[in-house]
Amino acid sequence: MNAQGLTMFDFHDKNVIVTGGSRGIGAATVRLFSKLGANVAFNYNKNYRKADELAKACALHDGEVFFEECDVSDYFEVRHFVSKVIDRYKRIHVLVNNAGVWEYGKIEEMTVDDWRKTMQINLDSVFYFTHLIVKHMKEQKIKGSIIHISSTAGQRGEALHSHYAASKGAIISFTKSLATELGPAGIRVNSVAPGWVNTDMSAESLRSEGKQILAQIPLGYIAQAEDIAGPVVFLASDLAQAITGEILNVNGGNVLCG
Ligand code: NAP
Repeated sequence: MNAQGLTMFDFHDKNVIVTGGSRGIGAATVRLFSKLGANVAFNYNKNYRKADELAKACALHDGEVFFEECDVSDYFEVRHFVSKVIDRYKRIHVLVNNAGVWEYGKIEEMTVDDWRKTMQINLDSVFYFTHLIVKHMKEQKIKGSIIHISSTAGQRGEALHSHYAASKGAIISFTKSLATELGPAGIRVNSVAPGWVNTDMSAESLRSEGKQILAQIPLGYIAQAEDIAGPVVFLASDLAQAITGEILNVNGGNVLCG
């Protein structure tokens, strides 16, 4: 990459929101944006200790890190969090909708509450944050970037996790809809689609079915959270200034073999 390419990865003077930043992919994304000079605001649900540890580790970098508890499935909490972050940073350039849950459920045993919980955390939250941040970006005439974390499951389905797959499939069509709607305002909307990533979310499955899982991944490699954070930052950067409406598969080719 030439020197101009490197400056296109510079996030000094950029303000970023990452949802679910306390652990896993969200935490790796917070760390990388912070290393590249951004001010990063993130929320967590329950895990204050992890959030605090992350913020302390990022304090070594140039940008500021701000975090607060906020249940992404509750619109009023999201609105409060977003308005606090906007008051603090004035201009938000990047939103990463990352927070999510992955729960098991046979369709005939899944309760209405199970279904709603997954939809509210994984999908409603994406609407809440995007709705508020797009309004802000348009008012402030910010040519921003929004990145949703979807999944292989949203493209080819996932047995025994149909609510999860449905929420991620909806995120993909939401991404494509907004890419065309918001392109004229200079706001890019993309999605990163991980497969198996070594985080708390998948730890139990990776422990018990690691060999079978690995056999389904052409690259024969289970991604680390950092492998997802890099493509997220790329999509947020000026290197991706001509990219919108893209579903960037970061799953070692697993989506082709599900
Ligand atoms: P993770 O390690 O379980 O971390 C989940 C994060 O989301 C945590 O920061 C958690 O906060 C936060 N969160 C969960 N529910 C929340 C709520 N109601 N309100 C606010 N924050 C909430 O998960 P991950 O593996 O990093 O997954 C991140 C994203 O990648 C998710 O959207 C997931 O669907 C997607 N993904 C993951 C994989 C994988 O294999 N890991 C594969 C495909 C897609 P606390 O720490 O406070 O609980």
